[in-house]
Amino acid sequence: TVARLRPFGSTIFAEMTELAVRHDAVNLGQGFPDTDGPAGMLEVARAAIADGLNQYPPGRGMPVLRAAIARDRARRYGTVYDPATEVLVTVGATEAISAAVLGLVEPDQEVVLIEPYYDSYAAAVALAGARRRTARLVPDGARFVLDLDSLRAAITPKTRMLVINSPHNPTGSVLDRADLTAIADLARERDLLVLADEVYEHLVYDGTEHISISTLPGMRDRTVVVSSAAKTFNVTGWKIGWACAPAPLLDGVLAAKQFLTFVGGGPFQPAVAHAITDEHDWIRELRDSLSDKRLRLSAALRDTGFGVCASSGGYFVCADIRPLGAEDGMAFCRELPARSGVAAVPISVFADHADDWKHLVRFTFSKRDETIDEGVRRLRAGI
Ligand code: PMP
Ligand code: GLN
Repeated sequence: TVARLRPFGSTIFAEMTELAVRHDAVNLGQGFPDTDGPAGMLEVARAAIADGLNQYPPGRGMPVLRAAIARDRARRYGTVYDPATEVLVTVGATEAISAAVLGLVEPDQEVVLIEPYYDSYAAAVALAGARRRTARLVPDGARFVLDLDSLRAAITPKTRMLVINSPHNPTGSVLDRADLTAIADLARERDLLVLADEVYEHLVYDGTEHISISTLPGMRDRTVVVSSAAKTFNVTGWKIGWACAPAPLLDGVLAAKQFLTFVGGGPFQPAVAHAITDEHDWIRELRDSLSDKRLRLSAALRDTGFGVCASSGGYFVCADIRPLGAEDGMAFCRELPARSGVAAVPISVFADHADDWKHLVRFTFSKRDETIDEGVRRLRAGI
């Protein structure tokens, strides 16, 4: 392995899922659902295979999907992207993120991440040979909020890109308009690109609103929005994601993407196009059901003795292990599958300042109620 990738080892999701399988544990570590997406969407994928849509799709993605993505963003956010030049279908959001960094950041430039950050961001920056600096979220009661001073301090004359993720993995925090406005002001003042990871854009709870930073004044022109079908339609294994950006920026993303994978899975693309266009009720039900699951898991973890943080969006809830007499989340998560038959993920792996996050572990509630209840039953029986 080359030096620039050596620090990353194997991903925490692979490690914890491997432990979960080995110990037959309930996997509340890796965020993926254990039920299928909308039946109509699955049927379109089956029909696409039967109809012979089995060769390379166009490099930017099938027109039907690019058109659906553009229409949907125009309808929900009022932002207009030309499907011919401003929408790119990728192999999951993961590829969109890597391609955006590889295609838009020079090796001597810097990318600012906000701790805790989704693990692939730092690896993408390292692959590009660029340097990362970090700002941070800080606790505010049971929530986490952006520390704006840390963001200001992380920006230097070499900063090219800022990566934001809202709703957030792993904390479940959602950036509000005031924070997004402050970020946008900084981006304009310091002439930065923003990579906005919105894979949980539909999954916001308690009336929280997801605001895309691309909708703020002047921001569409400097933002690459990334999203994915994975979490919206319960198809994490399909690996259909996308990037939307003004053409000059999207050209950079495409320049990298074409040599990473060329194209992604063809038959899934019309199926996701169908889902984006016609499955609005399904999405609403998914959101409501995930909100209930979040409350179900949070209450049960609290009863079990964890300190439970608030989650307003996404797939995850963070829990403090100190009330249980534990201190090190990494050690806790490495032992949990064997000891209790449950898998979780330590937050410290999402941070450069790992000690600040050592006491927190992440559980996903993106599971059937029975799965959540069985996980909780096992935790109650012995942690
Ligand atoms: N960003 C975030 C914040 C995520 O949680 C994930 C995992 N779902 C991804 C990106 C990757 O998405 P995909 O599975 O579409 O590659
Ligand atoms: N995004 C999911 C998570 O955070 C899964 C990611 C993965 O397995 N690479 O758990």
